[in-house]
Amino acid sequence: MDAPNLVSHAGYTHLSEAAAAELFRRILAGCRVTRPQGPPVLILDLDGTLMDNRPRTLAIVHDLAKMWRDRHPEAASALEKCTVDRLGYLLSDSLRRMHIVDPVLVGEATEYWRERFFTDDDLRHDVALVGSVNFVRACHELGATIVYLTGRDLPMMGLGTFASLRTLGYPLGVAGVEIILKPDATMADEAFKRMVCPTLARVGHVIASFDNEPANCNLFKEAFPHADIVFVDTQHVPGAPPLRNDVDVIGDFAAALPLTPSSPPRDGEM
Ligand SMILES: [Mg+2]
Repeated sequence: MDAPNLVSHAGYTHLSEAAAAELFRRILAGCRVTRPQGPPVLILDLDGTLMDNRPRTLAIVHDLAKMWRDRHPEAASALEKCTVDRLGYLLSDSLRRMHIVDPVLVGEATEYWRERFFTDDDLRHDVALVGSVNFVRACHELGATIVYLTGRDLPMMGLGTFASLRTLGYPLGVAGVEIILKPDATMADEAFKRMVCPTLARVGHVIASFDNEPANCNLFKEAFPHADIVFVDTQHVPGAPPLRNDVDVIGDFAAALPLTPSSPPRDGEM
């Protein structure tokens, strides 16, 4: 049976709304406290954590449908009808759901998707997770240093990431905000984040981290045992390791909204 502050949810046990509100309240309170080690620091992943990137894949899939309309009309029609809800973590799984299983088509689609998904231009399709903009802005305004730590790489996705954070209204381009990206795309995400962890001491005292990959949450809990490490249960890589049981689980940032009522600025107001 679940503890009273926990709610079972498709494999992961989410905090109840009240427990999530308490978690956000604790983190917000921690944002006011500067320690000898430096200012409070929040480590925030982007894809699948602050942002839903499925609309990026959907836009690419719909463009592929246009390309395929004459050559592969049946597959093109399936792609056209695809919606965000039908997209899995892996494109091959999404294609299978659309009954596109011919290896040649799957290969062509994957190549087309990969050439666009990991580049600046299509990041504009990403949307913010519910409550995330207000929460990050509130943490920054209270005094925390925000570190966006993402598996995106600097050469191919840096400019698009900057534009997307700005457009969606996350704090950016001001004191107390850092963006850490991979030096190149070939490095594995977990290895990259593991490498970055020890360098975060120069930024300040890590009080919380949010990530949608169990492996990353586990390594953050190892590195920062006293911090609130939060798993955002959106999508994650298939075959991920089990999540440590001292990591909190949420679905989005909705429970923070009553605590962070300020509306985000329009683009250009930062
Ligand atoms: Mg992620």
